[in-house]
Amino acid sequence: AAKQEGRNVFQFYTEAMNLQVARQLQLEELLYNALERDEFEVHYQPVLHIGSREITSAEALLRWHPSGIGPVYPDEFIPILEKTGGIIQVGNFVLEQSLKMAASIKAESLPGFHIAVNISPRQLRNADFPEYLFKLLKQYKFPATSLTLEITEGVLMTGYSIIEAAIKQLISKGVHIAMDDFGTGYSSLSYLRNYPFHALKIDRSFIRDITHDKADLELVNAAIAMAHSLELVVVAEGVETEQQLDLLALKACDYAQGFLFSKAVPKQAFFSLMSSKTERS
Ligand code: C2E
Ligand code: MG
Ligand code: MG
Ligand code: MG
Repeated sequence: AAKQEGRNVFQFYTEAMNLQVARQLQLEELLYNALERDEFEVHYQPVLHIGSREITSAEALLRWHPSGIGPVYPDEFIPILEKTGGIIQVGNFVLEQSLKMAASIKAESLPGFHIAVNISPRQLRNADFPEYLFKLLKQYKFPATSLTLEITEGVLMTGYSIIEAAIKQLISKGVHIAMDDFGTGYSSLSYLRNYPFHALKIDRSFIRDITHDKADLELVNAAIAMAHSLELVVVAEGVETEQQLDLLALKACDYAQGFLFSKAVPKQAFFSLMSSKTERS
């Protein structure tokens, strides 16, 4: 009987795995021409300065509208693009769209506006990346110091020296680097010591329960204090309630981003968000 059971479990796993592999292959196929078919769109989520409650920047978040199947979210399609290498072209598209958008906000409503873009390890491993980025900044007359590249701890864990060199070159030209999803990876502390990061983004899984989980609040408090002592600014991700925002203000967190203010929205909606804010003040 035990043998029979073991076999059923095995069959169950292989069926689940087959389904997953089939889904991956389907998405891989659809992603192959997605850029040419114009199926990608960059959305922007506002980031607010907690002290002033003003929008100071935005994070660019990629959206994919595949035809024929339902919506697919970045957590599913970004890893596939990383695997196939498609992320290089698609990542360049995100950077170009984001700089174009941010340059017009700078010109029209907020000269100090800042934009943050997520970058995959695969992009940084490409030796041409820093030069490509510097050219793009020049093309859009966009100051390097108004751009933040968000990387996760995983990027540095890959151990590629080319990635380390790229990050140092980008920083030397003034580009800001933020450590994204802080607290979810490994050995973040040694990376914080070895790289002059500009910002630390606390993962939303730590923010979620701060109003009723004392331990989470203490961890967030400690992360903020540590970041500040290393002269990093702190962004809290996933802020959904006023109570969370009040606690973060109390702990001297610098910036907040989350559904409390807005989800990521298309470019035009973000422009309206910005103009309604500036009209009111
Ligand atoms: P991330 O960089 O940590 O982005 C924050 C994620 O949290 C976004 O999910 C955003 O929509 C979500 N979020 C923001 N505020 C809230 C909130 O208050 N509540 C909840 N429940 N969620 C909130 P999204 O857009 O699905 O992106 C997921 C991840 O995919 C990103 O995590 C990032 O790692 C990756 N990603 C997205 N766009 C790009 C891109 O252009 N390039 C690369 N390499 N990765 C990207
Ligand atoms: Mg991010
Ligand atoms: Mg994050
Ligand atoms: Mg994330």
